[in-house]
Amino acid sequence: MVLAAVLWCGDPMSAVPLKNDQPAHDGVRSVSVLGATGSIGDSTLDLIRAAPDKYRVEALTGNANIAGLAKLAKEFNARFVAVADPARLGELRAALAGTDIGCGAGESALIEAAARPADWVMAAISGAAGLKPALAAVDRGATVALANKECLVCAGDFFMSRAVAANARILPADSEHNALYQALASGNRHELLRVIITASGGPFRTWAAEDIEQATLAQALKHPNWSMGQKITIDSASMMNKGLEVIEASYLFALSPDEIDVLVHPQSIVHGLVEFADHSVVAQLGAPDMRIPIAHCLGWPDRIPGRAARLDLASIGQLTFEAPDFVRFPGLRLAYDALRTGNGATTVYNAANEVAVAAFIAGKIRFGAIARLVEDTMNGWVRAGNLAPLGSADDAIAVDHSARKMAATLLPQIAAKAS
Ligand code: NAD
Ligand code: MG
Repeated sequence: MVLAAVLWCGDPMSAVPLKNDQPAHDGVRSVSVLGATGSIGDSTLDLIRAAPDKYRVEALTGNANIAGLAKLAKEFNARFVAVADPARLGELRAALAGTDIGCGAGESALIEAAARPADWVMAAISGAAGLKPALAAVDRGATVALANKECLVCAGDFFMSRAVAANARILPADSEHNALYQALASGNRHELLRVIITASGGPFRTWAAEDIEQATLAQALKHPNWSMGQKITIDSASMMNKGLEVIEASYLFALSPDEIDVLVHPQSIVHGLVEFADHSVVAQLGAPDMRIPIAHCLGWPDRIPGRAARLDLASIGQLTFEAPDFVRFPGLRLAYDALRTGNGATTVYNAANEVAVAAFIAGKIRFGAIARLVEDTMNGWVRAGNLAPLGSADDAIAVDHSARKMAATLLPQIAAKAS
């Protein structure tokens, strides 16, 4: 993989500013929330709702939930709202009738929402669809709280380089990366030995491989600790989410795959740890509630009052840790393979996984077939000689589209094959 273009977060030129080198924030901060109707959007707006004198909402976006989006737009008096589906514009206009809230539909409207002049943008559209809107915020030098990990998995080098070029600030909103971000500030790059991201292990942590193979959608959606959107919940059950997060950490902090470890921690209290040269390990802890990392990003460089439960370790009693099982959870192994392969392989990993998860939700493949489809697509991609550096968002999107096609082509044989 190419990390040369990506500056380590400790570098003064990096897009991920490690130390609080900014003046404390006062006055009203204008914010936009991309993916406002989702789980991260909801947590973000919950924090904003609690401090109405501190924030003004510029733009909100959604995908299909027009009524929900219009309700939020009115509640927060947003200046602009965008919906992804161009066919829903009339419906959105009708829902906003009698207000002076501007609106648009389709990809260009999502990009317009991101490009509008908010100081702070939450990038929380799910999937590769979030890439172009997040780039629109990056390109105007905004402070971008990045929840959408697919931006980095699909186009990491490119995304981070664009952020540096535009003088944008990327604040990691994913809980593990936010934890690393907080812990990394304890030392310098040359003192770092490794980072460790924790994983709950998901609902199948203790299951035998044969049972994981046959797991149902309802079982996959029962996350033990976190309440999240459907796609990421299924990715947590397959540990593909942790795979995506290993890749995300690599691009965000300019780390090699060997510097990133995964540790299974079923209680989800310790979110990330950093080990330094003196063997000090610095960790961030908190309740498993996304409002904690989001509050860190929303207040940055200050700390704002939290909305999640405070941590009561005495009542939790025990924190336990296990090594990850790369055999029962092959999705995690494949993420390291993709990262080492580089040249678009992580884009293929993500695209094939999105196709596989959609097929699993639709009842077309078994749970165990998700990782098989990802592996076969990655192998097919390499065999076809398709690996090449990604120089632009369009390159990344082209790879994403072709990899989806390849995955869709391989789907029937994967569906037909028993494990
Ligand atoms: P979600 O499914 O609850 O919400 C996704 C949001 O994106 C919704 O507003 C939806 O309307 C919008 N959206 C979906 N498809 C779209 C499309 N094609 N075009 C435009 N908008 C679209 O998902 P979530 O759990 O809130 O996750 C959002 C992102 O944050 C994902 O990338 C996820 O990996 C990441 N993330 C989520 C969590 C979590 O706890 N939920 C934690 C860390 C990272
Ligand atoms: Mg996470």
